[in-house]
Amino acid sequence: MARVLRDTETASVIGEIPHQEFHTVTVVHMIGNAHMDPVWLWGWQAGVDAALATLSSAADRCDEYPDFIFTRGEAWIYEQVERLRPDLFVRIRQLIKDGRWFVAGGTYTQPDLNLPTGMGLRRQIRRGQAYFQSRFAMQPRIGFNVDCFGHPAYLPDLLVEHGYVGYVFGRPEPREMEIPFAAFRWRGTGGAEIPAFRVIDGYAYSATELQSHVMAALASSDPALGHTMCFYGVGDHGGGPTKAQIEWIIEHRHAFDGIELRFSTPQAFFDAIAPKRDTLPLVEGEMQHTFPGCYSVMSDIKRGQRHGEHLLDQAERVAVAFSADVAERSRHMAKIDAAWDDLLFTAFHDIVTGTSIPSAWASCRARQGRARIAAEEVLVDATRAWSYRTLPKSSEHQIVMLNSDDAPYDGIVECETWLDYDIWQDRWLSTPDGTPVPFQQVQPEAMHLVPRLIFPAEIPPRGAARVQVRAAPAPVASPVSTDLEVSPSRIANGHIEVCLGLAGISAIALRGRAVLAPEGIGLHLRDDHTDTGATNGDRWTEPVSALLAGGIWKVEETGPLRARVRMENRLGTSRVRWTISLLRDDPRIFMQLDVNFDERFSLLQLAINLASPPRSRTDGVVGGTVMRPPSPVEWPVQGWSRMSYDDVAVALVTQDAYSHSADGSHWEWTLMRSPRMAWAGGEPPIYHGHDWYTDQGIHELSFELHFGVTLPDAALDSAARRMAQKLIRFDRTDGMNRPSSA
Ligand SMILES: [Zn+2]
Repeated sequence: MARVLRDTETASVIGEIPHQEFHTVTVVHMIGNAHMDPVWLWGWQAGVDAALATLSSAADRCDEYPDFIFTRGEAWIYEQVERLRPDLFVRIRQLIKDGRWFVAGGTYTQPDLNLPTGMGLRRQIRRGQAYFQSRFAMQPRIGFNVDCFGHPAYLPDLLVEHGYVGYVFGRPEPREMEIPFAAFRWRGTGGAEIPAFRVIDGYAYSATELQSHVMAALASSDPALGHTMCFYGVGDHGGGPTKAQIEWIIEHRHAFDGIELRFSTPQAFFDAIAPKRDTLPLVEGEMQHTFPGCYSVMSDIKRGQRHGEHLLDQAERVAVAFSADVAERSRHMAKIDAAWDDLLFTAFHDIVTGTSIPSAWASCRARQGRARIAAEEVLVDATRAWSYRTLPKSSEHQIVMLNSDDAPYDGIVECETWLDYDIWQDRWLSTPDGTPVPFQQVQPEAMHLVPRLIFPAEIPPRGAARVQVRAAPAPVASPVSTDLEVSPSRIANGHIEVCLGLAGISAIALRGRAVLAPEGIGLHLRDDHTDTGATNGDRWTEPVSALLAGGIWKVEETGPLRARVRMENRLGTSRVRWTISLLRDDPRIFMQLDVNFDERFSLLQLAINLASPPRSRTDGVVGGTVMRPPSPVEWPVQGWSRMSYDDVAVALVTQDAYSHSADGSHWEWTLMRSPRMAWAGGEPPIYHGHDWYTDQGIHELSFELHFGVTLPDAALDSAARRMAQKLIRFDRTDGMNRPSSA
C-alpha cells in the first residue's frame, strides 16, 4: 500500500534548506527504484504484468543512461521475468554483474513483518537469498522493506543473523514516530545492531522536478554525516525512474552549492557512512503504529497464514522425526519447501494485512489452501508409512497418536471412532497392555453413526502412543474421579471457578482470588469509520455501540474429564456462539467463539476487565516477547499476551487474533472489522454505493486463558504452538477380529 506524494503536496511542506548548514559537500545518493505490490488494488496477474513491464523499462533506462543505476529487490519479481522474459533476464544478469543494477532486500516478497511467524520470516530471507545466490552469484546485504507497516523489535537480530549490514524502511513516518535523523543505528531486543535508514518523503516518487524531494532528504539527515539517500521512480505499474527524472538528476548534479547528486545504491550509501557508524543515533526496539487496522481486518486471511505456516512447520517436524530414511525425508522436505512459496507470497504486506481489493482474495485463499494441502499430505504420508512400518498389527481397533512437538504431550485427546456404524454401547478403552483408560462420550461432529470420545493421554516428545477400542465386557472399574462442577450459571474445577452471566463471563476466581472486575469478560461492537488499514491513528476512538446481553448458557458436557457450557446469541446483526470448557484438574479456561459477522463500519472486540491494573504486561511477538506500557494504543501481538501481578499471572493464548490494547485493567482484543475493502476513506469518481465490506461471514476463533504464579514465556509459546499444531491422531483398523457370520 503506497502513499503517493504529488508535487503539490511536497512543495508546500518542504522548503529549501539554507546551504550554509552543510559544512562540506554532502552526497545525495539518488536511488532509482520502483516499489511493486504484486497484489493490492489489482490481482496477482496484474502484479506479474507490472513486474515484466517495470524491469524491462528499467533495463532500457540503464542502456540509455550509462551512469544510471536501478535498485530492485524481491525474488518473486525476478522469477516472473526469468520464466516469461528470459531475454530480459539475461540483460538484467549482465547489468547486475556490471554494477548497474542493485539487488536490495533479498527476501521473496516484501512481507508484513508483524503477522508472519519467525519461521516464516526466516524462510522469507533464506528463500530469497538462495534464489539470488543461484541466479546472480550474490547475496543481498541491505534489508529493504520500504512500505511495510511496522517493524518488530527482533528484526535487527534476524537481519544481523542473516548477514545484513544495512536496513532501509519507510514507515513509521516522522508524524508516527520521531527519530532524530534518517540514518541511525537500530538495536534489536536480542542486542544486535544494524545501521538503518528511513526513507523520507516517499520511496515511490513520480514527479519530474526533484528539487523539493532532494531537499527533504537533506533536511532529515545529519549534516555531519556527509551522505544521505533520496529515492525516486514511479512504482507499481509505472515503470520505475522516468527519462525526465534521470535527465533532471544529470542536469542538476552540481547545481546546488555543497551538494552532489550521485546515481547510487543503498549499499554505496551504507559503505560511505560506515566509518561514522558509532556516531549515529541509537534507536532501540520496535517501530510500529502505522496502520493499526491492518492487524485485525480480513481476519480469515491472517488465520489462513498463521495456521498454514504452523502446519508446514509441523509437517517438517514430522518428516524429520518419523521418516524411514534420508530419501523419504528429502522427498517430504522438497514438497514442504515448495509449499512455503505460496505462504511467502501471501505474507506480502498488502495480502496478509487485508488491504487488497475484493476480487483478489479468492486467489490468495487458494494459495494458502495449496500450501495447507501440501502440509496435510506430508503429515498423512509420513505418519501412515511410519505406522505400518513400525506398529504391530492388532486384531482390534487402535487409535494412534503422534506428538510432533519437542515438549511432551499431557492432555486430552478427542476423536471419533468407526464402529461399523454401531453405537458405543459397553465398549471401553485400554492401553496396548490392557490397562483401562478413562474416557467421556461427547457430541459427535457427524450427526449420526459415529461416536465421539475424549480421553487423557501422555505422549513423549516426537513420539507416539496407542489406545485400543475394546469390546464388552469392560472390567469392573471404580468411577472416574473428577473435580468438575457445571450448571447454567457456573463452571468450575479444583483450580478455577467461572461465573456465567447474561453478558458473558461475570467472574473468575482462581482458588478464591477474584481475577476480574464486575464487568467480567464480554463481547462488544465498537463503531469504526476508519479506512481499511485505519491509517490515521494508533487506537480506536469511537464508542462501543452494542454489548452482548441477555445470553442464556446451556450445559453441554458435565464431565468427568471435561465440562462445557454454550451461549448462542445475537450481537448487532451478527450471530455469536460462545463455548467455554474446563478440563479435570487443569487451571486453564478454553473458549471458542463462532461468529457469523454481518456488521458495517463496526469492529468486534473481546473485552477482558481485570480486577486491577497489572504490574506489567508482556506480549508475544515475532521472534520473542516485548514489554509494553499500559495504553489505549492498539498493538500487534503474536500467540499470547500476559498480565502479571505480584501473586498471579493471567495470559490469553490464541492464534486467531492479532492485535489488542491493554489500558490498565481494560484489556481489549480486536477480532474483526468491517470497513470497505481497499478503502482509503474516500469514494471513486464514479460511485453508485456498491460496497464490499471486510470480514463478513463465519469466523471460528479459539482462545485459552492461562493462570499461574509466573506463566513462563516458553510454556506460553508451547501452548500457542499447540493451538496451531494439533496432536496427530488416526485409526488403525486393519485385521479387526470380527465374529464369523456363520
Ligand atoms: Zn507496497
